[in-house]
Amino acid sequence: MSEQTRFTLNETDLPKQWYNILADSPVPPAPVLNPQTLEPITPDFLSVLFPMELIMQEISSERYIDIPEEVREIYKLWRPTPLIRARRLEKALGTPAHIYYKYEGASPSGSHKPNTAVAQAFYNKAAGVKAMTTETGAGQWGSALAMACNFFDLDLEVYMVKVSYGLKPYRRIMMESFGAQVFPSPTETTNYGRSVLAEDPDSPGSLGIAISEAVEVAATSNGAKKYGLGSVLNHVLMHQSVIGEEALKQMDLADEYPDVVIGCVGGGSNFAGIAYPFLRENLKNGQRTRLLAVEPTATPTLTKGEYAFDYGDTAKMAPVVKMHTLGHGFVPPTIHAGGLRYHGMAPSVSALFDAGLIEAVSVHQKTTFDAALQFARAEGILAAPESAHAIRAAIDEALEAKAKDEKRVILFNLSGHGHFDLASYETYLAGELEDYAHPAEAIKSAMEELPNVA
Ligand SMILES: *Cc1c(COP(=O)(O)O)cnc(C)c1O
Repeated sequence: MSEQTRFTLNETDLPKQWYNILADSPVPPAPVLNPQTLEPITPDFLSVLFPMELIMQEISSERYIDIPEEVREIYKLWRPTPLIRARRLEKALGTPAHIYYKYEGASPSGSHKPNTAVAQAFYNKAAGVKAMTTETGAGQWGSALAMACNFFDLDLEVYMVKVSYGLKPYRRIMMESFGAQVFPSPTETTNYGRSVLAEDPDSPGSLGIAISEAVEVAATSNGAKKYGLGSVLNHVLMHQSVIGEEALKQMDLADEYPDVVIGCVGGGSNFAGIAYPFLRENLKNGQRTRLLAVEPTATPTLTKGEYAFDYGDTAKMAPVVKMHTLGHGFVPPTIHAGGLRYHGMAPSVSALFDAGLIEAVSVHQKTTFDAALQFARAEGILAAPESAHAIRAAIDEALEAKAKDEKRVILFNLSGHGHFDLASYETYLAGELEDYAHPAEAIKSAMEELPNVA
């Protein structure tokens, strides 16, 4: 075991390939369906939205896919990211456990999202696309794609969930600084936005609605604009595998191996990014690391949602996939972890959870902020509210190890910093944060709206 605190890799250790879990997953992927016909989707349908290289990655069963040199060059601006042993937190907890975290907040936009944003912008540019559209919740994905589109000289339209647009002006300004146009969703400029506003002029918006708007704009642009999604899809999760591949090498430097790997889950990408390379080691090399996904009790997709075919967006324009879902009509409460409010979950994460290969737990937001504060005071990093869910679970693991007086090696993904989330911290510090659990009846009635797939 190493005496070091910080485990850094060289540029030469930057992964040359992304890892695709579909090559090793014992659970075959369910078909992706056309939202109109509910028949298996054709590459044609997808090609309205995505460049062909990304579609091929989406359906690939290749174990490894080469990372283009242009993408690696940009990754080098912040990768490999550090792996840090949280020694001061361990001491504060008085735990025999060893706690490590991979710090993705070290990226220029402050989260793991640029790992896929740069790749997506690269493949769109290579396919001759001139502009992209996307949605953003908290603004992390929008900022990452704005940076990436700027690097590759692509225009970008961002549909930002209205409640976040109001709560997080600084993320909007960051996107605009990179040259993106940002609209509060629902807008008056899309058919779908207008239909939502006609029913509810005060709609706070949701990720599902914003996705519908961004998809509509791309789909009706006659090929001029393509759409980028920041999570959920196979190719997005695959781009994030650089996190876990680096972490494997860094745990090696630390001369330890994790008993449990933890990540928060919104759509599943940062969790998959750190966890899937360790899952490969479980499946192929006899390791037995537990993989733990952490979600808010307010959006309990894995722990309370149903594993069923559902639409990816509210307007039923995006493909139908089999996933854990709270129903495509889900309008979440305005909890502060804006990035964790999507109604569904990545199909691969859902399938692996269903098969018992990964675990999930839900946590309330007050205790999550308690953990974030404890972590900040010990380690000096103010985490994104999303990432704080992983911190909560890591601390709980460490306290359990203490109670049982056992050594446990814990690794979690610190998916982003919270420097744009200070309003949430302010609410917490003022004692005004409220817990919210998604009611079981709401899930039950939402399930009646699921597509009828034979
Ligand atoms: C977007 C985001 C998440 C949630 O998305 P996943 O796809 O589940 O990773 C988590 N943490 C941060 C910091 C984010 O920006």
